[in-house]
Amino acid sequence: MVNGQTGIVVGSANARIGLGAAVEVLRNGGSAMDAAIAAVRLVEDNLEDNGVGTGGIPNILGQVELDATVMDGRTLAAGSVGAIKGYPNPIDIARKVMEVTPHVMLVGEGAELFARKHGFQQAELLTDEARDSWKSRLDGLDAADGSVYEDQYQLFMGAVRDWQKMLHEEIYGTTNVIARDASGDIACAVSTSGWGFKWPGRLGDSPIIGAGNYADNRFGSAACTGRGEMAIRAASAYSVVSNMRHGMNLEEALRTSMTDLRHMVDPFAERSNVMNIVAMDREGNVLAASTSDESKYVFQTVEMDCYEEQPRLHVPLQTGQ
Ligand code: ASP
Repeated sequence: MVNGQTGIVVGSANARIGLGAAVEVLRNGGSAMDAAIAAVRLVEDNLEDNGVGTGGIPNILGQVELDATVMDGRTLAAGSVGAIKGYPNPIDIARKVMEVTPHVMLVGEGAELFARKHGFQQAELLTDEARDSWKSRLDGLDAADGSVYEDQYQLFMGAVRDWQKMLHEEIYGTTNVIARDASGDIACAVSTSGWGFKWPGRLGDSPIIGAGNYADNRFGSAACTGRGEMAIRAASAYSVVSNMRHGMNLEEALRTSMTDLRHMVDPFAERSNVMNIVAMDREGNVLAASTSDESKYVFQTVEMDCYEEQPRLHVPLQTGQ
């Protein structure tokens, strides 16, 4: 006997275009993992979304580098790829890493080699729009040979000093999807192109299990978007699940993990530092929190014809905001 809400999917607002596909998988008796991945794949393929997959904002060299993770809450199996170039659906590669290797995480060239060996199709991920955006910010750079020049480092550090100005423009974006199937199994999938104009090889929270993604059937699941460095330092996704393990309800768990972020000393922090967490408890209840009072999340059950969008619980980074 499975308790609670089964057949449910929850995600960051940009996952809305994928929720219908995920719910269809669940209606047809598919697994939570199949459902979460079906949704994320559609976001990766959405050219309008410039924070995930094809169309993602490139790194400082003009290369689109993607990160993705999956975690299976029944087995605690996980797979991840980081800083992978040339493959439009890193979420499928992350799943393959989970299924056929003794590893959890492959990055860079090793991840690309793995993808090639397993027959994943390559594609050009840099759209004209993303190229223009890169050019307008970092004009005059010659990234033709893909090497990292000293002047680019200076430019990057300039961008870092300025990053808060770009934060609410196109610089960030990630998608999170958590699903619970008819057996009560929970799975979580996360995919991103990361911090726009990032340093090559920079990994955010999305490819790191415990930071941007965590799932455990016994307690629930959580996944993050926003400034990944914060979620890495606070192990935010795991922290929400751990809070539930220790008896907190979903809202308390989210509030506690969000307020933990206030303790970080961060010379790069600005008022616009942003963190969002979407979560599900072990019974399939869903909720999300954000440091912003504008952020939304979406969910859909197999009984619903369409997704519903809800405001996130607002937990500002500074008290008094
Ligand atoms: N968390 C992602 C990262 O830091 C970006 C995002 O969620 O917008 O790479």
